[in-house]
This record gives sequence, structure tokens and C-alpha cells, in this order.
Amino acid sequence: MMETKQTALQARKLQEVHAQKVKELLRLPENKKCFDCPIKSPFFVNVTLQTFICSRCSGLIREVGHRVKSISVSTFTGPEILALEMGGNGVASTIWLHGFNAKSTPEPDTDTEVREFMRQKYYDQKWLLRDLWIDHDKSVKRCIDELFDEDGLPKPTFTKQRRPSSQIAIAPPKTKHVPAPLTLLPVPASPPAIKTAPLHFTSAHQPPPIMATSPPPQGESPVEQK
Ligand SMILES: [Zn+2]
Repeated sequence: MMETKQTALQARKLQEVHAQKVKELLRLPENKKCFDCPIKSPFFVNVTLQTFICSRCSGLIREVGHRVKSISVSTFTGPEILALEMGGNGVASTIWLHGFNAKSTPEPDTDTEVREFMRQKYYDQKWLLRDLWIDHDKSVKRCIDELFDEDGLPKPTFTKQRRPSSQIAIAPPKTKHVPAPLTLLPVPASPPAIKTAPLHFTSAHQPPPIMATSPPPQGESPVEQK
């Protein structure tokens, strides 16, 4: 029971963190204008392309088949936030508007013009830098796979890596009962099989930061090797 309660609490906290993150991303200069029209202050996220768009375009883009979420109403998953951090209107512009000449082409204004602009952009893919799109999509997926499980929850290794290293370094080597408040998933009881070196160094050599860089507990392969 405790666990369920705690998980629900942690999930809520995570949602708050995600909402905060979206707001931070929204404050970036490249995200202050709708990706599909000149309207400022977008309040929606195109989850399919990881762009920030206005209310009007959030309706129009659904016609193209893209998924949209309202920033004020929706909740965002960890993978969605990560993708949004890696994307945004700046990256999307490089991908979808490569060679687009904003000077010679008037920005779409009316709904009809926006629809036409979207058609050229997403159906005709008139300005699409396809290779970059594929590369970007791949790296986003790879990062998500590395950091999140199938349910979109951070993998335990991820939470461990995110823990400030100083916190780990100062932990006495013997403590087996350090509470792990950051883990979201039930963690197996076995502690990491890490032995810290004795602390009586006499040589001038700096001991390597064993705790901070050692691989995750047994049974888990390091993220990089995947
Ligand atoms: Zn718009």
C-alpha cells in the first residue's frame, strides 16, 4: 500500500517537474512564436514534431494528423519532455524549413494560408531536410530508450546517474541502508557490489572517483553499450 501511495506521490511530483520544464522551454527565444504561423506566445505542443504552436494552429495541425497537447491542461510524460528538450521550434525549423525563404515568402496569416503552408511543409515536404529529420528522430528515440522503460518511467540507472555525485562520494562505504528517495521503481534489495578502496593513500596519485564512475549494479549493462 505504502508503495502505491508513494508511487502516486512521485508521479505527481514528476508531473510538476515536467510542467515546469515545458514552461522553461517555452521561454526560449525560438519557442516564443508559433511554429506554423506568426502568432506569438504559443500555448500548445505538437507532440509529433516537438514544436510549440498557437491555439489556432493546434486545431489545424490535427487535420494533418499530428498529436497536440495543451500546455496548461495536459500532462507530459518523461519521454515527451526529453524529446521536446531535444527538439523545439529551432530544431524543427532547421529540419522542416530548410531553404525556406521567409523574406520572399509572406508568412501565412489566415486559416486558409496556414493550411496551405502546412500542406507544403508537411505533405509536399517542400523544405524538408530529410536526412537530418531521420537522424534527429533516431537520436531522440535512442535517448528515450536509454533513459526510460516501456512505461515511460525513468530507468533506475537513470535516477542513480542523476544523483549529485558529491552526495555519493561522501556516503560512507559501509552504509547499506541509505534510503533511496529518488528511485521510482521497486529496487532489488541487493546493494551495488562496489568496494571502495581503503582511504589511506600515500602516493601522489589521485584515486579515481570510484563511486561516481563505476558501472551500475550487477545484472545491468551500462547504458553506453546498448
Ligand atoms: Zn499558429
